[in-house]
Amino acid sequence: MEKAVIRKSSNHINQNEGLIFERSRPGRRGYCLPASDVESMPIESLIDAKQLRDDDLAGLPEVSEVDVVRHFTRISTWNYAVDLGMYPLGSCTMKYNPKLNERVSRFDGFAASHPYTPDEMAQGNLRLLKALEDSLAEITGLAAVSLQPAAGAQGEMTGLMTIRKCLESRGDARKYVIIPDSAHGTNPASAAICGYAVKTIKSGSDGSVDLDNLRQVIDGDVAALMLTNPSTLGMFEEKIEEVCRIVHEAGGLVYMDGANMNALVGVTRPGDMGVDVIHLNLHKTFSTPHGGGGPGAGPIAVTRELEPFLPSPRVVEITDANGETTLRLDYNRPHSVGRVRAFHGNFSVLVRALCYIVSLGPDGLREATETAVLNANYIAHHLKDDYEVAYPGKPMHEVVFNDKRQQAFGVHTLDIAKRLIDYGFHPMTVYFPLIVPGAIMIEPTESEGREELDLFIDAMKSIAREVRENPDLVKHAPHNTRIGRLDEAAAARKPVLRWRPASSAAGQK
Ligand SMILES: *Cc1c(COP(=O)(O)O)cnc(C)c1O
Repeated sequence: MEKAVIRKSSNHINQNEGLIFERSRPGRRGYCLPASDVESMPIESLIDAKQLRDDDLAGLPEVSEVDVVRHFTRISTWNYAVDLGMYPLGSCTMKYNPKLNERVSRFDGFAASHPYTPDEMAQGNLRLLKALEDSLAEITGLAAVSLQPAAGAQGEMTGLMTIRKCLESRGDARKYVIIPDSAHGTNPASAAICGYAVKTIKSGSDGSVDLDNLRQVIDGDVAALMLTNPSTLGMFEEKIEEVCRIVHEAGGLVYMDGANMNALVGVTRPGDMGVDVIHLNLHKTFSTPHGGGGPGAGPIAVTRELEPFLPSPRVVEITDANGETTLRLDYNRPHSVGRVRAFHGNFSVLVRALCYIVSLGPDGLREATETAVLNANYIAHHLKDDYEVAYPGKPMHEVVFNDKRQQAFGVHTLDIAKRLIDYGFHPMTVYFPLIVPGAIMIEPTESEGREELDLFIDAMKSIAREVRENPDLVKHAPHNTRIGRLDEAAAARKPVLRWRPASSAAGQK
């Protein structure tokens, strides 16, 4: 499948933008400083000789301003982004990030304030943190919130640390955490980091927690149960109150992985279901940027009983004799698990999340949730004749299929995901959750309108047809990209980071 390589000379805005170093021409400059009007001094008189380079060249590309701008602008068009099109990655809630959030987070008072600003001069920023904590407490139905954790996984760790501290204060930290087999991989990792063994329970035939299995494995050594709701299969855990009752009766606490809160916000509250701790992924549910390694934010919300153990410092309100309230950072938290993150977490992400919450308001948040669920069900309905639904039941904000029907033609989930790229979409989530062999997991979010959903459905239906009629086409996808199918294991272990002419580049077609 050798693909013709378009040479730079034949099409100068092309698919193979070279390195900026290849544009370098000796002596070319982006900007020239005016001639110096002071006497020059030898650099050796200012800097120790052994700190100086032997030759004059820094090895940096010598290019003009136009060269730089065009080079990076061209490369930027290679990215797929949520500002470009739909991002159907299930479990990730890749919703659109409103530009209003970006604007507000760049206000000088937020973006340029120093984290060591004394409390009395940072009242606005502390008020913002407090307002976000209060909003998230209201949304989750829990008593107190810490904004420190930098991501969902760190939220999980912090939540389990608070659980451990709480149990220690009751006299026994206990031994293990129960986690359903459908959980995200970060759940068992967080439990292990907090010194707990992991007991896995099987999902029932409908994908929900198997209560009989739970009753069998649970005993007085249980520290907590970690539950994702809706589950990673996208389905509401209908027996959650019963699950919480069983865990509480055994003296354990219930941790809810809140990565799927986009299906619940404004409609129902985990605190009301009996959950003790939850983390939220602000970069998923609350529309802050997501991907490329962050930054994100993974606040945790906890019950009144767990509040003393939250990370330090906490934002507290002090009322003086005149009835005036000011906000302070309270470091005097003797029971706290301590700090988990420098300063106040990823502050500018927190600004964006509060902006999103305030601009939508309670009704808007609820409508976003309802639309997210409607959109996922629209896709589930229109694709069920072409792809096998993994588990029966009503999906919420995401839907999981598998590749059973396509396997008959020798085509697998990975091939379908790669072919979707040719149709101009980012691939869906593949092979997660692990309990679904060949999982195809789709989460459209509320951001997409009917037309975009229909385009996506058309693409998926068209791929299903291609699988039946021309499976080889799908097996060798993608065809329309600058780089064809990679050996994924080799690409991860031996990445080709240096551009070479296409004829000699490994892994390029
Ligand atoms: C994304 C996700 C996590 C981890 O969150 P990060 O912010 O990526 O650390 C945990 N559980 C589930 C179900 C998730 O989807």
